[in-house]
Amino acid sequence: MVGGGQLARMTHQAAVALGQSLRVLAAGPEDPAALVSPNVVLGSHTDLAALREVASGATVLTFDHEHVPQEHLKTLVAEGVHVFPSPQALLHAQDKLVMRRHLTELGAPVPPFSTVVSVADAVSFGEEHGWPCVLKAVRGGYDGRGVWMLADAEAAATVVAEQLAAGTPLLVEQRVDFRRELAAVVARSPFGQGAAWPVVETVQRDGICALVLAPAPALGPELAEQAEQLALRLAEQLDVVGVLAVELFETQSGKLVVNELAMRPHNSGHWSIEGARTSQFEQHLRAVLDYPLGDTSMTMPVVVMANILGAVHTPAMSMDERTHHLFARMPEAKLHLYGKTERLGRKVGHVTVLGTEVQDVRERAERAAHWMSHAEWTDGWDVHGE
Ligand code: ADP
Repeated sequence: MVGGGQLARMTHQAAVALGQSLRVLAAGPEDPAALVSPNVVLGSHTDLAALREVASGATVLTFDHEHVPQEHLKTLVAEGVHVFPSPQALLHAQDKLVMRRHLTELGAPVPPFSTVVSVADAVSFGEEHGWPCVLKAVRGGYDGRGVWMLADAEAAATVVAEQLAAGTPLLVEQRVDFRRELAAVVARSPFGQGAAWPVVETVQRDGICALVLAPAPALGPELAEQAEQLALRLAEQLDVVGVLAVELFETQSGKLVVNELAMRPHNSGHWSIEGARTSQFEQHLRAVLDYPLGDTSMTMPVVVMANILGAVHTPAMSMDERTHHLFARMPEAKLHLYGKTERLGRKVGHVTVLGTEVQDVRERAERAAHWMSHAEWTDGWDVHGE
């Protein structure tokens, strides 16, 4: 697996049960997956020699992020490496313009968009489609980095000029007036088998995923079916192998619009570790190894995952002591720590709570994650009291 982040770390965990071992290409020895895998190549995902080394003798090469340059992927394929997802498929998760254009051709719902090579391009788009509109880096964005809301022509002039000067390829798209954000996560194997998890709601704060509710509360069965079918269809039409996460907007009028695609285990699927019969990490491995896919049904009616994000002020209390307190108060909370140091907004772990009633499960998951981030109980619970 190229990339040594938490996705590789959790994939490694799933690989153990399948009798597989995951070799990772990590940028440094402190990367989350490098800390747990005995089989680590240290190097950059942009270095062909490092990519060759990690792929050497492996059954298949797959990814925990989408940043490997296309030319390297194509070279590896030409040298006989089994790369899944293929470079052609992965391109749609690397390049938002390619993705938007191809999805338009395939008749998938996307917002109106246009390429931006000058300030005038963005301004005329805003004038035609209305302000505010959304400027995006075509490549390389994540966790909201590379996304700018343009309030008006004046804001467009400043931001577009700045980004063009920095050499960022840009696109602009209509701001979708959404009710909420959803994700349809599916997997597809080379044999052509597809499997979908229930559609989830994702809650973002400051451009970062804070919470995932499975299944998406009060989502009509028709819209849920539409989202699942759309994701399965895109997996097939784009020839994706592995996990595909389709990030969606549910508009105010109850329609679906595709925001973006990820072809790897995704934050919106972490709940599946405890919440589904087959986790996204196991499923990704099954898919890239061309095993039959596993049962995606839920283990409990409601599952909520809350990310543990680095706080403004890292608490004086150690992560270990916070863990003691969390477990003492909430034996039902399932904790995943990634071995990362805390920094503002950084995903350092997540908590999953399972249950039957969404309000209750959500409250407990949020309370647990807030505790782990801040060493502070939101309901005033006294750690040394009764
Ligand atoms: P990233 O690649 O950084 O995850 P996204 O394209 O997913 O970037 O955008 C990050 C967030 O910005 C989205 O989750 C959503 O909240 C908001 N956003 C992105 N595109 C639009 C849009 N067209 N309309 C409204 N909000 C948007």
